[in-house]
Amino acid sequence: MTNQLDSIEEIMLMGPGPSCVFPEVYQALSKPTIGHLDPKFISIMDEIKQLLQELMKTDNRLTIPVSGTGSAGMETCFVNLVEPGDDVLIIKNGVFGMRMEDVAGRLGANVDVVEFEWGTPVIPEKVKEKLDKKSYTIVGIVHAETSTGVRNPVEEVAKLLEGTDTLYLVDTVTSLGGIPVKADEWNVDAMYSGTQKCLSCPPGLSPITFSDRAVDKLKNRKTKVPNWYLDLSMIVNYWEGSSRAYHHTAPINMLYGLYQSLVNILTEGLENVFDRHMEVHLQLADNLESIGIEMFVDKDFRLPMLNAVKIPEGVDEASVRKQLLEDHRIEIGAGLGPLAGKIWRIGIMGHTAGKENIDRLMKALRVVLKS
Ligand code: PLP
Repeated sequence: MTNQLDSIEEIMLMGPGPSCVFPEVYQALSKPTIGHLDPKFISIMDEIKQLLQELMKTDNRLTIPVSGTGSAGMETCFVNLVEPGDDVLIIKNGVFGMRMEDVAGRLGANVDVVEFEWGTPVIPEKVKEKLDKKSYTIVGIVHAETSTGVRNPVEEVAKLLEGTDTLYLVDTVTSLGGIPVKADEWNVDAMYSGTQKCLSCPPGLSPITFSDRAVDKLKNRKTKVPNWYLDLSMIVNYWEGSSRAYHHTAPINMLYGLYQSLVNILTEGLENVFDRHMEVHLQLADNLESIGIEMFVDKDFRLPMLNAVKIPEGVDEASVRKQLLEDHRIEIGAGLGPLAGKIWRIGIMGHTAGKENIDRLMKALRVVLKS
């Protein structure tokens, strides 16, 4: 029998995620699996919580990785916080805002949307107009809109909610570990991320954090959390306290991987990590512009880790991506929804964010575009 895994080649992952995995994370994943209630494992879990607090800039006690990808983190935030009939405002300017709208609607919330053109940032004044007309239980926003390459002004929107009871829910799947994310300073109540972007682990876990206000909302629900697997009121009993209660078997080796990634990032230093992403992004933007490829997003709102670039006229975009992958073992991403065929998405996330990787991409891109 031939084993398909023997023919997997390493690809330089420069798409919208997953990113290249830290070598130390691969090593961590292959450590022996131990029991999910083994005291050694509990001690690793406890340290993961602390390291996540440091990364997310929060003192929230309820800061844990949820089993599942970023979407599991999104569902966790919504299923625990939304009750039928709650008024929820979703700020939308791309695919991942659309998903928030869908998830909140499925839970019976009255969902209002304030929408901005794809590729442009959220305008806080327009959000304010909406907030002036109605008070909301929850306001949801995506920090780094992976579908467009836009960084949204999460901090400015937070200021609009100051002094209200509204819970602030933020998607940091692509931003966490690549640009500053300050959960406490921005008064974020619920936040979720994913491991396969700037944390440079394989996909499979979703770090989340809940503020005390969010925990109160959860504790005072009139209805049961409508999802057993993601019910935080049960999951915390596995992640907290002197005697841990089984809820579901933790993805043990994935948690080793996340632990190692957090050690890598915090050892390099958060500021150094952010600077590295920015430097490599500027190098990429300069190099692309020098061969006539323009960036899609206005300079002030570009994400360093997700570069949306305009496809040059007359270029068969799918064939370029195919040649990059097949001939050069480099993956870049296509546009989504209305941006399909208009942009490429070049990810320089986490371990991928290195100057030599940009040189390799540019060399390959020149060859492919010439052909
Ligand atoms: N939110 C954002 C901003 C994302 O980029 C993604 C994935 O790309 C998700 C949510 C969903 O995460 P996942 O695909 O890991 O479930």
